Amino acid sequence: MRELIERLHEGLPTAAVLTDPDVTASYAHDMASFSEAGAPAVVVLPRTVEQVQHVMRTATALRVPVVPQGARTGLSGAANASDGCIVLSLVRMDRILEIDPVDRIAVVEPGVVNAVLSRAVAEQGLYYPPDPSSWEQCTIGGNIGTGAGGLCCVKYGVTAEYVLGLEVVLADGRLLNTGRRTAKGVAGYDLTRLFVGAEGTLGIVVKAVLALRPAPPRQLVLAAEFPSTAAACAAVCEIMARGHAPSLLELMDTTTIRAVNDLAQMGLPETTEALLLAAFDTPDPAADLAAVGELCTAAGATQVVPADDAAESEMLLQARRLALVALERVGTATMIDDVCVPRAQLAPMIEGVAAIARKYELTIGMCAHAGDGNTHPIVCFDGADADESARARESFDEIMALGLSLGGTITGEHGVGLLKKEWLARELGPVGVELQRGVRQVFDPLNLLNPGKLF
Ligand SMILES: Cc1cc2nc3c(=O)[nH]c(=O)nc-3n(C[C@H](O)[C@H](O)[C@H](O)COP(=O)(O)OP(=O)(O)OC[C@H]3O[C@@H](n4cnc5c(N)ncnc54)[C@H](O)[C@@H]3O)c2cc1C
Repeated sequence: MRELIERLHEGLPTAAVLTDPDVTASYAHDMASFSEAGAPAVVVLPRTVEQVQHVMRTATALRVPVVPQGARTGLSGAANASDGCIVLSLVRMDRILEIDPVDRIAVVEPGVVNAVLSRAVAEQGLYYPPDPSSWEQCTIGGNIGTGAGGLCCVKYGVTAEYVLGLEVVLADGRLLNTGRRTAKGVAGYDLTRLFVGAEGTLGIVVKAVLALRPAPPRQLVLAAEFPSTAAACAAVCEIMARGHAPSLLELMDTTTIRAVNDLAQMGLPETTEALLLAAFDTPDPAADLAAVGELCTAAGATQVVPADDAAESEMLLQARRLALVALERVGTATMIDDVCVPRAQLAPMIEGVAAIARKYELTIGMCAHAGDGNTHPIVCFDGADADESARARESFDEIMALGLSLGGTITGEHGVGLLKKEWLARELGPVGVELQRGVRQVFDPLNLLNPGKLF
């Protein structure tokens, strides 16, 4: 331990090496429940690529595991410390190095907060679409580590589609450049993509070249009330099948609506079974909303209310962004599933979750990036009650089993981490796991990077 700290100090400023156990303990875990977290030996907060290389060289020399961290808003335990590890927090590498309107790219360090980047590029008439609801806290490095999604992904896609190139410090301290900053490029294997969603197991992202888009017009939102989630899901399928391109298509059930009202007095309708929010950022959003409103009515909507203006639209979006935080207040603990299914299976998925809630006598709130088929069933329970906690864990697992049986995936955007390890193996199958382990071995033969995560 003493040798580790001394060696780290050789290449890092004193203030970048934290060893006080009370302080290091506060870096032990992300925001997932039911994921074990160990006690880090030390937390380091480098500001430069060279400092990150020094940390990795030291870790390799002394065979100490390293857990990379962004803002620790992750929901799968992927950023949780292991006993005796070095926590490598990238939050101080937070500079936007370049915004280039000609090539429509931004070059950033990993600790840049998502919303900070979004606002900076907006000032130049540009747009960085991936927008997790945690965007005011989460970092670009963490977004790359998890392959984050968000509300506008139904139209613009997820993080993977915006990462053009990376600079990565490998486990042994070597620096790897992947990808490009050009509009096109197909030289060699796509290692850039491999790092997206790798959960810090293949290397430390120290710089990213991100694609930007021209800023779209401001979006207008419509809220449609449905007497059942099945009717709302039918509307979603109809909207997508008819070729509409909403910039957002989100669903909240009654439990979620009530929780949001309780938290923020939003005045959302509490008698409805499902609220569907649709948005368009097209040149004539009112016309698109009118067409989608008709489809909602045909699918059984009892009320279709287009927002009057941008301010009202923003209020509805804020209601959706608060869903997770609001449901966290329903019990003393929550487990958040992230199952993504083909859109046609959305209704059976949501109805199946309701049946699981009844079976285990639990409250499970449902909010969903419905346009993507990405559901977030949120199991709310009393964490101090052992029996209820055990039922929560069982229901969480049963929801993933249901998702796989419907042709879906166990995680649309939150990642595997510790929480879904067993389920990743089920989804990939033995051949998939063997090859993925082989890839990991190539990048990290000593198994020092985020050991125990994924598989
Ligand atoms: C209220 C709330 C709402 C959320 N909404 C969404 C949502 O809409 N969509 C969504 O996708 N997620 C959402 N999340 C989950 C979370 O915000 C995302 O997973 C986010 O991408 C994590 O970023 P972070 O900076 O907190 O990373 P962390 O949680 O610190 O780390 C995440 C993973 O990335 C790795 N990592 C971090 N930095 C690096 C690096 N520089 N190099 C290599 N690996 C690295 C870590 O080891 C870990 O495996 C939400 C979370 C909360 C709390």
